[in-house]
Amino acid sequence: MNESPCDLCGSRSARELYTARDRLGNSSAEFHISQCLKCGVLRTLPEMTERELARFYPADYWGDEKPSLDWIKLSQKEKTRFFDGCRLAGGRILDVGCGAGFFLRALDPKKWNCYGVEISREAALLAACALGDDQVFAGVLKEALYEKSFFDAVSFWSALEHTNEPRASLVEARRILKTGGTLIVQVPNAASYQARWFRGHWFALDAPRHRYHFNLKTLDHLLRETGFEIYRATFFSKAHNSHALRQSLKARLRAEQPTSFGRAMFLLSIPFVRPVDWLMSALRQGATITLAARAV
Ligand SMILES: [Zn+2]
Repeated sequence: MNESPCDLCGSRSARELYTARDRLGNSSAEFHISQCLKCGVLRTLPEMTERELARFYPADYWGDEKPSLDWIKLSQKEKTRFFDGCRLAGGRILDVGCGAGFFLRALDPKKWNCYGVEISREAALLAACALGDDQVFAGVLKEALYEKSFFDAVSFWSALEHTNEPRASLVEARRILKTGGTLIVQVPNAASYQARWFRGHWFALDAPRHRYHFNLKTLDHLLRETGFEIYRATFFSKAHNSHALRQSLKARLRAEQPTSFGRAMFLLSIPFVRPVDWLMSALRQGATITLAARAV
C-alpha cells in the first residue's frame, strides 16, 4: 500500500517492483520503485516533501554558470529542433523547471516572449539575469499565479517527473494556456527497453529526484484528463539515450561484476551502444519520450 493515493488515478493499491539508490551518492538510502495497480504509473517511495528533496540536488545540478550563447544554442539544439518542428507562430512561452533558462535563451527572441518558473533560487537567478527579472518566477508553478489563457506554449523539459503533483501541474498548465496552444513534455520512458533491462540501475530513474516515472500510456491518459491531446511523440534523444545506456551498463556491471572482467564487458559493449539505442528507439522503445500536445 502507498502512503498517499496515486496522483494520477487516486488509487492506493500498489506493488513494489525493485529498489534503487541515489546515483549521485547524496545518501546511501534505498528507495522503492512501486507500480500503481490501477493506472500502472511507477513512483518513487517513500514520499518526500519538496524541502526534503532539496538536499538531493547538488549545487552543480544546474550546470555551468556563464556559458556563451553559441554553447547554449548547441546544447539546446535537440529541444529547439523538436519545438521548431511544431511550427508554432510564436508569442508567449513558459518553461516550467527552466533551470538557468538555457532552452528559453536558445529561442528566437523576435518570435518568443520567454517566461520561466524555477524552484531553485540559484538557477532562477541565473535565468533572470539573462531573461529579465519580470520574466522568471522563483518557486513552483501554482504559486506564480499567471493569468488564465496567457501563454501560447508551455514546456516541461525533464521537469514533470520531478514533481509530487504532476496532475496539478498539468491542470495549471492548461489554465494558463490558450485553447489551441501547445504543451511540450519530455520525460524518461518507464516502458523503454532501458527501464526494463536495468530496473534499479537505470540511469534515468534518478531516484529520489524523479517522483513519477511515466510511459506513453500513463502520460496520454493524464493529458487527456487535464485537457490536452497529443499530436506528436518521439522516443529518440541523442542528448539523453546513449548516455543513459552507457551509465546504466556501468552501474549494473559495477554492482554485479565489480572485477576486471566486468570492466572488460563494459568496454566491449561501447561500440554497440548507439546502434542498439537507435534500433530500440525506432521501435518506440527509446528511453526518452518527447511529445507535443494541443490544449483542447
Ligand atoms: Zn495510479
